[in-house]
Amino acid sequence: MRHFPLFADLTGREVLVVGAGEVAARKVRLLLDAGARVTVVATAVGAALRRMLDEHAGQGSLGLRQEPFRPEHCDGMLLVIAATDDTTVNARVAATGRERNVLVNVVDDAALSSFIVPAIVDRSPLVIAISSAGVAPVLARLVRERLEALFDGSFGALALLLEQWRGRIRARLPQLGARRRFYERVIRGRVAALLRSRDESAAQAALAHELMRAEAAAQGSVALVGAGPGDAGLLTLNALRTLQEADVILYDRLVSPDVLGLARRDAECIAVGKTAGEHPVPQQRIHDLMLEHARRGRRVVRLKGGDPFVFGRGGEELEFLAAHGVPFEVVPGITAAIACGAYAGIPLTHREHAQSLRLVTAHCGDSRDTLDWAALAQERQTVAFYMGVAGLATIRDRLVAHGRSPATPVAIVENGSRPQQRVILATLEDLPSAGQALQVQSPALVIVGEVSALASDLHWFGRAPVVWQGLRVAA
Ligand code: SAH
Repeated sequence: MRHFPLFADLTGREVLVVGAGEVAARKVRLLLDAGARVTVVATAVGAALRRMLDEHAGQGSLGLRQEPFRPEHCDGMLLVIAATDDTTVNARVAATGRERNVLVNVVDDAALSSFIVPAIVDRSPLVIAISSAGVAPVLARLVRERLEALFDGSFGALALLLEQWRGRIRARLPQLGARRRFYERVIRGRVAALLRSRDESAAQAALAHELMRAEAAAQGSVALVGAGPGDAGLLTLNALRTLQEADVILYDRLVSPDVLGLARRDAECIAVGKTAGEHPVPQQRIHDLMLEHARRGRRVVRLKGGDPFVFGRGGEELEFLAAHGVPFEVVPGITAAIACGAYAGIPLTHREHAQSLRLVTAHCGDSRDTLDWAALAQERQTVAFYMGVAGLATIRDRLVAHGRSPATPVAIVENGSRPQQRVILATLEDLPSAGQALQVQSPALVIVGEVSALASDLHWFGRAPVVWQGLRVAA
């Protein structure tokens, strides 16, 4: 490379132009545009320069010394441009520059020049400078024409827009990588396209939108993940992925150790479920933890037993995340009813016995009161009661009162899909006594419906079902 390319800041700097013809006037114009303080030395002054002198009169940015060039004119100059049509004068200016270590450009004479002025494509603040080192100006001009066509006026608007937003972009995307990806998207995408169609305000809006998205992507996120009923083999591949990418895992009591064992080694695992005798972690605290970790740029996994949207308060947690602008995804899990049915040998629907399946929570008094017991008591359906261990008598009483036969087969599936799984088969009539006598523990699911009886023949996992008959257990 023959010349070192640079863009110089000439604001308020002294520049000398020797000569005052047409060519000199063009150079003066460019220098003034760049903010330089220009002194012109010439014996004769052309019309164009004369006009410029009038325009700038009294501003101090352009001055004329109508006298022959002397080396002292170069004193204190940052740059000198020789633009006379007298080659000896030009050569003297060049020689003076060399002596005094001032950069000199002799117009159209690269050999005499210590700097050359490139051809430019001006899309300020974007400027493309082209140089052929002075040896092939026509070629440089051709390149310039091509670039002019390639980078239309919208590139200037784009550069201006980015300049306007620069501070905000830097503040909101402090990571270099994220910032670079953002700029790429803006320059190649919709924002640039809108500027090309001269829709400046739409481009502003699109840029704001892109920035929001990029910010969200750069911040942490929460995956709401269903851990299934316990057997780690029942996790989805997506659940496994999120566990292995996690920085923080907030897990419930129902999540089995086998599942937690699949988490990334460095992930911080925080128990947020209630344990017997201990107070539950308040929901608000769980929300705060998710937010706090996500805001620190972490990938948070909120891990719940079964499926997060089935009696898991997953909806509330997502609403909270959405309200706070935290990006999230949901990974479904196998809910207890599906797992307990499968692992107890109870097909939840069956052409001969049940055409529908209901998932019901029998947890708290309030929700129980709002249940449509008449509908739940209908025949030829399966009703799976979650969190029903404490309410077995209520379940029986209400269903029977609304017409379900006391002889209806029921199953209690305790620890479904886990090594310690226990299945108890009884009639609806005997449901409370079975639960009490056999000391059923949470987690357990109650399945009411004819299909429950099929477990006697279809059980395949763990111990055979316990068949409760009245107040005694069948042999
Ligand atoms: N989101 C969970 C349910 C949470 S409510 C899901 O989709 O499965 C908790 C209730 O789920 C427990 O009281 C119990 O009724 C049921 N449950 C969860 N895991 C269970 C398991 N392994 N065996 C039996 N019941 C289970």
